[in-house]
Amino acid sequence: MLLIKNGRVMDPKSGLDQVCDVLVQDGKIIKIAPEITEEGAEIIDASGLVVAPGLVDIHVHFREPGQTHKEDIHTGALAAAAGGFTTVVMMANTSPTISDVETLQEVLQSAAKEKIHVKTVATITKNFNGQDLTDFEALLEAGAVGFSDDGIPLESSKIVKEAMEEAKKLNTFISLHEEDPGLNGVLGFNENIAKEHFHICGATGVAEYAMMARDVMIAYATKAHVHIQHLSKEESVKVVEFAQRLGAQVTAEVAPQHFSKTEALLLTQGSNAKMNPPLRLESDRRAVIEGLKSGVITVIATDHAPHHADEKNVEDITKAPSGMTGLETSLSLGLTYLVEAGELSLMELLEKMTYNPSKLYNFETGYLAENGPADITIFDAKADRLVDSHFASKAANSPFIGETLKGQVKYTICKGQIVYQA
Ligand SMILES: [Zn+2]
Repeated sequence: MLLIKNGRVMDPKSGLDQVCDVLVQDGKIIKIAPEITEEGAEIIDASGLVVAPGLVDIHVHFREPGQTHKEDIHTGALAAAAGGFTTVVMMANTSPTISDVETLQEVLQSAAKEKIHVKTVATITKNFNGQDLTDFEALLEAGAVGFSDDGIPLESSKIVKEAMEEAKKLNTFISLHEEDPGLNGVLGFNENIAKEHFHICGATGVAEYAMMARDVMIAYATKAHVHIQHLSKEESVKVVEFAQRLGAQVTAEVAPQHFSKTEALLLTQGSNAKMNPPLRLESDRRAVIEGLKSGVITVIATDHAPHHADEKNVEDITKAPSGMTGLETSLSLGLTYLVEAGELSLMELLEKMTYNPSKLYNFETGYLAENGPADITIFDAKADRLVDSHFASKAANSPFIGETLKGQVKYTICKGQIVYQA
């Protein structure tokens, strides 16, 4: 038995926000009360700390199979636990891609060895070919939780429509990375800084919001649920809001980097600040924060994208791969740039990192309640933390190294077991 004493217990689902004790047994929370005494229980003193549901990240790249020099499912899971996450959803751009039941089963076998919940989507199209749908039904049956060609946007509107119809039929949804290659320049550099500083044609806003506008309207017409991944533009927030008002079943996520930083970070952090979609303008950063506040964007997801230092440190930055390691800074970025900045309450932040993403996928987690799962994150919301280059992830491609952020994860508990301790 595990007894968590005197923490500020916060549950976005029920609204509970009170200093109390939490008793855990056999992977479940068996009691939440102001004062619990239990002989023989292992005690965690959570005085001054927040006791929250285990964080849920629905957008991670764990690189297994195929690119395990960057990350594998084990180190990805360790990074997740260190960041306070107890449930993650892998993207399917592995090598081979997760497009068939056999590959899916291999991934899930590997994932099952981990102490946290590692789930995965399968691809929408076979090997990301953009043309042939995978067997959604078989993949769902084999344990895929959803579908995405994340990283390779779907150019064919016909395929988008077919995928939505198939997903709707099977009571699931597709998730889309929206950057139309036909409207885009060099990925990873926002168009403004690309032109002014790098003298290239960069990643345009229109590539994102035009493709998104197409897809939310296909969702509207098909009455299917579409989830928009890591939106980054002011106009994109407006597009999602418009579709939602129209009655389309559209949900959206934002990555911490997009509400924290702008394109200028490329000038100081180089390729570690290169990502798809890119860091944008201050007006875009403000807009995604407003989207979080208004509820247009309900989920914060990291897009954890580990890369090897040798790949990131190439001489020509345009050749470096896009993406940043994100699991171990996500909570701190939310605490720093949303809560400390006065944009969201701590409860609102937690809702977007626990209950909302969990609800999106119908996971049996993301809340704290008696008889509920003992997936719990305990953190100091006020601590100052200097981000250094030591990560549980294999990768250290974070543009936040050297920055002092708020918040420190103290314990991560999953299925009633301590899986990380600071
Ligand atoms: Zn993506």
